Amino acid sequence: MSRPGLESIINSSRSGERVPRSLSRRSFMALSGTSAAALAFNLPDVASAGTRAGRFQDYPFSLGVASGDPLPDSVVLWTRLAPEPLSSSGGMGDARVPVQWQVAEDENFAQVVRSGIAMAHREVVHSVHVDVKGLSPGREYFYRFKAGREISPVGRTKTAPEPGSTTTTLRFAAAACQAWYDGYYTAYRHLADEDLDFVLHLGDYLYEYSVWTRGGRPDVELPDKYDRVTMTLSDYRDRYALYKLDPDLQAAHAAAPWIVSWDDHEVVNNYMGDTDHRGTPPEEFLVRRANAYRAYWEHQPLRVPAPDGPDMRLYRRFTFGDLIEFNVLDFHQYGDAFACGGGVHVDCEERLDPSRTILGDAQETWLLDGLSRSSARWNVLAQQRMMSQLMRETDAGLAIPMTYWDGYQPARDRIFNAFQDFGVSNPISLSGDLHRSVAGELKEDFDDPDSATIGSEYEISSISSGEDGSDIDRFGENIMRSNAHLKFYNSQRGYVRFTATSDEWRADYRIVPYVREEDAPVSTRASLLTEDGRPGVEIIDENEPQGTLYGLEEDPAD
Ligand code: CA
Ligand code: FE
Repeated sequence: MSRPGLESIINSSRSGERVPRSLSRRSFMALSGTSAAALAFNLPDVASAGTRAGRFQDYPFSLGVASGDPLPDSVVLWTRLAPEPLSSSGGMGDARVPVQWQVAEDENFAQVVRSGIAMAHREVVHSVHVDVKGLSPGREYFYRFKAGREISPVGRTKTAPEPGSTTTTLRFAAAACQAWYDGYYTAYRHLADEDLDFVLHLGDYLYEYSVWTRGGRPDVELPDKYDRVTMTLSDYRDRYALYKLDPDLQAAHAAAPWIVSWDDHEVVNNYMGDTDHRGTPPEEFLVRRANAYRAYWEHQPLRVPAPDGPDMRLYRRFTFGDLIEFNVLDFHQYGDAFACGGGVHVDCEERLDPSRTILGDAQETWLLDGLSRSSARWNVLAQQRMMSQLMRETDAGLAIPMTYWDGYQPARDRIFNAFQDFGVSNPISLSGDLHRSVAGELKEDFDDPDSATIGSEYEISSISSGEDGSDIDRFGENIMRSNAHLKFYNSQRGYVRFTATSDEWRADYRIVPYVREEDAPVSTRASLLTEDGRPGVEIIDENEPQGTLYGLEEDPAD
């Protein structure tokens, strides 16, 4: 079946033609495999103040559907009405529109178990967040929306098992970093085909930079407003709309519930707390941060309350049976500015200052408290920046990056001490940002290879950021030479598929050989394993590299 291209959607939006209705229909068919007859909805058309006889100018579910933040009895459903997705109001103007939603046990919606109506209104750019309660634990569900006469694509979701209940296997994927202009989201299409309990997104869901016409999507023409850095609420909303038009991203959202956290580019590169490290006065920067947080909240399936100005508590915890507890961290909202002005440094005393914080007091206390109480087999820090030391050879000598946990060494030591003091079972760090696949050992003392290994780290590469990439590059050679605790490296695009049981934690590094052309195949570059009670990582299977084998990149872009 041919897929409707993003180009045709965007071009038809630009020329004022109708967005092909077939997008959602095809997505639905691909998802459910049911016949058109099954689309006969038994919900009545809702009379709506905002639409004439329930009609929209164009298909309103152009940005797809999503679910997220799975609990044993609840998931959050998301959609946004946007019949003209690239116009600033999404083509909805001031309308207030009731949106019906249904959750069913089957993909044909024969067994609807929950349903209701949510109002879509202008203040939240007609996004809808429904916290569906009263669901059964550890169960698959299907959901859809209806507005006017229009029906959304169908999404699949799944609740978490009860905390503490015996859970034999969990399968999930982790992804990060999806610069739209760097390439196609083919990795997401493959991710959508995996049979997953949930998806983790570790940040850089979008980038603030101008969407210039280079890289992987050279044929797409966009309105001029995309040719600037995001600053205003409208800028950020417009950027989410562009990204969310991507059919592969929509398919990945529709395939499983997501647990999301942000990195820096959802606001601006390498911001920390109230500074963008560019001399912008804090009161000015915080207005931008408020705009960015607001648009993020509007476009994600989040249970957390909408941001209060520049503040939004995103760090939160998810427990899956007796198997995994995820501490989803926020690296950027509460931290002190980067030591020694950021970058990499051979000597930087400031990074050793114990008063400096990444997480802020409240989040750090919350994390340590959670670690002390957890009874899960695997205890995960789902975060943005690598915890492992990332030493690099430079002309000045061995240097350390200030923009990672390395730049806040006492803060890292406090977490590592907690791992040991509380006897935390199998600490695992999942991180993103680097646009590289890396895996290695968390060491009691990274400068002493003989010191105890106290945990495991799996670094997730990017979906598209960094364009095609290569199996190895100069940066990779450098860090693999300089850090004995790192065991695996690849600099291509993809995601990681994890399978956790009570005995082992398995990571399959799923790689696409290119993103600047469509339809790349996916393959497993390597499979890695952490055994219960044995911190560290072991490569159990390694396959032939695909695509470009050697690249020249010396500096990681993030
Ligand atoms: Ca980043
Ligand atoms: Fe990134």
